[in-house]
Amino acid sequence: MELFKTIKELQQALTADKNKGFSIGFVPTMGALHRGHLSLVERAGLENERVVVSIFVNPTQFNNSNDLKSYPRTLDSDLELLSSYPCDYIFSPEVTEIYPEPDTRKFDFGTLETVMEGHFRPGHFNGVAQVVSKLFEIVKPDKAYFGLKDFQQYSIIKAMCSMLQLPVRIIPCDIIREKDGLAMSSRNALLTENHRAVAPQIFSILQEAVSEAELFGPEEIKKRVIGKIASIPLLQLEYFDIVDELTLQNITSWEHQGVKVGCIAVFAGSVRLIDNIVFAK
Ligand code: AMP
Repeated sequence: MELFKTIKELQQALTADKNKGFSIGFVPTMGALHRGHLSLVERAGLENERVVVSIFVNPTQFNNSNDLKSYPRTLDSDLELLSSYPCDYIFSPEVTEIYPEPDTRKFDFGTLETVMEGHFRPGHFNGVAQVVSKLFEIVKPDKAYFGLKDFQQYSIIKAMCSMLQLPVRIIPCDIIREKDGLAMSSRNALLTENHRAVAPQIFSILQEAVSEAELFGPEEIKKRVIGKIASIPLLQLEYFDIVDELTLQNITSWEHQGVKVGCIAVFAGSVRLIDNIVFAK
């Protein structure tokens, strides 16, 4: 496993691999790695001859400067964790390596970005598209691995690749959870003990919503989820939407064709947590 800080060094190693005909799997991350990230690395290792993991806290995707400042940075323990996974190269650049000058590109993802995360975190997906398109240009992977915890991000990345005609396959990976159901997230480390104790209820409420879908329509399910979160004093709901997996637009009936996904964002104190669940109807 080798650690590179510059584009040049990483590309030298990758050029040699590509000349040998090796396939390249890529896992972009912001570090503070946990089993969620590592499951992506594991999958990339099974499907590729070389695996690149990037660790880069991308400033352009943070619409809140406190969130950027407090974002956990744990490079040493990340390297330690990755050493027992099939990771060949770690790319951990400085901000100036990725943005030698400000990135002024504006992406237009239409209605995919006007809902949910896009609505509540203006500019977030533009920043994600900026960094991921740059990283794809640097690494030129055959496949790139994204977690379904960030469900809307996965849709945005697919849209970006078709918009820019990038020859990379985007591989969706299942959500990895703590034993108590809480979706793993680097931000979980920032939860107070009391917030950590109630946070698993987010997933329990999503699971209840799925089982109650036998009895109630989508609008009623939404109201019930809103009510249940409101009854937990340490949690504040930002949104809960039941959307079509492709358009990300709200559905109003279970008769709607296509996969339906319930997506939620909740504040536990100052920590914002997201999760989602598929309605198997
Ligand atoms: P991040 O470091 O938060 O930008 O995440 C890097 C990648 O790991 C993204 O594709 C995330 O969707 C994915 N990821 C984060 N948490 C999880 C999780 N609990 N399960 C699966 N994938 C995850």
